[in-house]
Amino acid sequence: MESKFNHIESLCASEPKLTNSTQAHKNPIVASSTFKFNTIDEGVEIFKSQPGHHVYTRYGNPGIESVAQKIADLESFGLGFSSFGLLTSSGMAALFTAISANCKENTLLVSQGNLYGGTTELLQKIIAGKGVSICLTDLSDLAETENLFKTKSYSNAILLIETPSNPTLQCLDLEALCALARQYGAMVVVDNTFATPILQQPLAFGADIVVHSTTKYIHGHGLSTGGALVFRDENLFKKAWEIMKLVGCNCNPYDAWLINTGMKTLALRINQQSNNALFLAEQLSDHPQISSVNYPGLKSHPSNKIASKQMRSFGAMVSFSVGKTLSDAKSFCNHLKYCSIAPSLGETDSMILHPATMSHLKVDSETRKYYGITDNLIRLSVGLEHPQDILDDIDQALKFI
Ligand code: PLP
Repeated sequence: MESKFNHIESLCASEPKLTNSTQAHKNPIVASSTFKFNTIDEGVEIFKSQPGHHVYTRYGNPGIESVAQKIADLESFGLGFSSFGLLTSSGMAALFTAISANCKENTLLVSQGNLYGGTTELLQKIIAGKGVSICLTDLSDLAETENLFKTKSYSNAILLIETPSNPTLQCLDLEALCALARQYGAMVVVDNTFATPILQQPLAFGADIVVHSTTKYIHGHGLSTGGALVFRDENLFKKAWEIMKLVGCNCNPYDAWLINTGMKTLALRINQQSNNALFLAEQLSDHPQISSVNYPGLKSHPSNKIASKQMRSFGAMVSFSVGKTLSDAKSFCNHLKYCSIAPSLGETDSMILHPATMSHLKVDSETRKYYGITDNLIRLSVGLEHPQDILDDIDQALKFI
């Protein structure tokens, strides 16, 4: 065929025309950093009507947006209203975007002392420096939480909740906390990473923004790092989009595609993993070398009532205490044959983490102790294996302490 170019270099540099095709069964990766306009006037119109119109992938991209909207649709599924989604480069980027879009000088941010360690660091090292007053308390104590809103002076307030919490699986009462926040004009941000929208929908209880590390269950296969934000209110969505666009902490087309691929089995995975976790929690509770087990599905767990009220099942994270000391915990971890020692969760295989030396290393020991993050506490992200195999692995490793 005759080339439209006179020189071979021009053909090398050009984008080939796509052949006409029936529609691909799966969405493509829209791996284009920019979008082209037919005329300057068309470009001006598209630039003016952001978001949702495509100029540049940092501003928005159809592949990324479709996956963000799917997560939003999951979070508001069956609730009788729609919501808006954004995908970010990580869970931390989602948290940063949610908070920084809504804080200014004299903002009060109230949250729990037993957040994911990285979130605590983000609040104390980055957000506090912006004139925001950070108060970390025990959010299961509603009177104490209310007292903070009553006694602190602030121009606006944010209540940040992570439930179930990492790693002690404390569940916080979303209905009561959202009602309290509403009374004091505070916006509610909920990190729903551990539960996923399959097990818990914070928007149903009045949350304004839901945050995810999609790196965990939503993607579920450990091949992608990402985060998601879901908003009930379109103005909050637009404010956060502005921050994400200017900071450049958007997701990329490849990760968005991977997140969607993983999400197709989310309901199957989290339900099966929850069943496996319940089996393990029950078995470990009876083990002579395990002094305590944290799992909200156990009747003995202090959060069992709250979890039963707001979750469809109890999730796939369990933590338990082995022996008495740090060296008991180390010896146990070092002798596991199957479970990987790896600082993440929510994948298809079981993963072990030692919070005191890993995820919560930078949290001061007083706070750790208060929230039950002892030196001999082990966190287990229960995978899709037969749970008896995991139990056997734990059992043989316990013989070394
Ligand atoms: N939120 C929770 C509950 C987490 O456990 C984590 C990471 O472990 C994050 C947020 C941060 O997510 P990411 O590692 O994707 O930035």
